[in-house]
Amino acid sequence: MIPIIKPSLGEAEVEAASAVIRSGWLTQGPQVAAFESEFAHAVGAPHACAVSNCTTALHLALLAAGVGPGDEVITVSHTFIACANAIRQCGAEPVLVDIDPDTLTIDPDLAEAAITPRTRAILAVHQIGMPCDMARLIGIARRHGVALVEDAACAIGSEIRIDGAWQRIGRPLGDVACFSMHPRKILTTGEGGMLVTRHAAFDRQFRLWRQHGMGLSDVARHASRAVVFEDYPTTGYNYRLTDLQAAIGRVQLARLDAIVAERRRLAGLYAECLAEIPGVEVPREPDWARSNWQSYCIRLGPAADQVAVMQGLLDRGIASRRGVMCIHLEPAYADLPLRAALPHSEAARDRCILLPLYAGMGEDTVRSVAVALADALTGRPALPLSA
Ligand SMILES: *Cc1c(COP(=O)(O)O)cnc(C)c1O
Repeated sequence: MIPIIKPSLGEAEVEAASAVIRSGWLTQGPQVAAFESEFAHAVGAPHACAVSNCTTALHLALLAAGVGPGDEVITVSHTFIACANAIRQCGAEPVLVDIDPDTLTIDPDLAEAAITPRTRAILAVHQIGMPCDMARLIGIARRHGVALVEDAACAIGSEIRIDGAWQRIGRPLGDVACFSMHPRKILTTGEGGMLVTRHAAFDRQFRLWRQHGMGLSDVARHASRAVVFEDYPTTGYNYRLTDLQAAIGRVQLARLDAIVAERRRLAGLYAECLAEIPGVEVPREPDWARSNWQSYCIRLGPAADQVAVMQGLLDRGIASRRGVMCIHLEPAYADLPLRAALPHSEAARDRCILLPLYAGMGEDTVRSVAVALADALTGRPALPLSA
């Protein structure tokens, strides 16, 4: 069976986690601090604050941006449900706009048109690793005085060209960018999130909020040679990452360049192999963006049946996923009024398929997925797998 993704974990991660267990300090401590500074350096951000996952990162990013009850946050429907959930956790409502059908990311014109006096922020999702058109979104956010938060859950190692220079996603271009270290992403710590921001005041706020609003951390109290007491200047949450996770993340981060280079090589090979197959459209990067290919998303022509093709792949021992979900089509958000139809989002969900792509996959496996896809598209039944 060829899975959709396999985390790239080795003996170095096992050793790093074991060392933390031997140290006796398991939760947020020295490993988290080191992971934060290495992460900030890797993406070129002035501040990085680790949290328990990307959903909690989105929650804190939106809170810092001032999002509260009665506010609106503009984002896409074509994304993971965590985006809308984090907005509602702030007491605000998502305003869902359509995507650009080529990049599958937020259409900046539609985002601008959706701004009202209640709009507090735009949540731009670098979906499946493809950067949003940040040059235009930055201009829109500035012009209208709204915050710009990046959901970079899938986008570590992706790059964007701004003013003629390439930079990694996460510098950040907006006010805050949020990353995920879930196993479905590029680097993993099991669960994990990172908040990077340009604002020192946001970073201080994140550090309070993630640890119960506590003014003096347990690390500082542990290190103190004088008796000290913590205080609680604000209400907070428990959104901590553990040192066990951070130690794994540091090893993963050191391999980021190699992992992304390998994914790009495999994506290039997919594009070559799939070019021959009629009725399959391969993803393309705009000239100002380089994806990390967190997912390899192909679009089927009108003649193909998405579910039948996916079943055909499964019968041939290959996992796939349908295109990214649409929040407005889920029961949890059925009551959300839509301001406009979202045809490109719905088409992307119903016409696209994500193919397996992971570091260590090997070129032969890419080629066999391509052959199986061509075969599945003919509608021919698969030969028995065990034969
Ligand atoms: C995975 C994902 C999230 C949620 O990340 P967690 O770390 O699992 O909370 C949010 N947004 C997008 C676009 C994602 O792909």
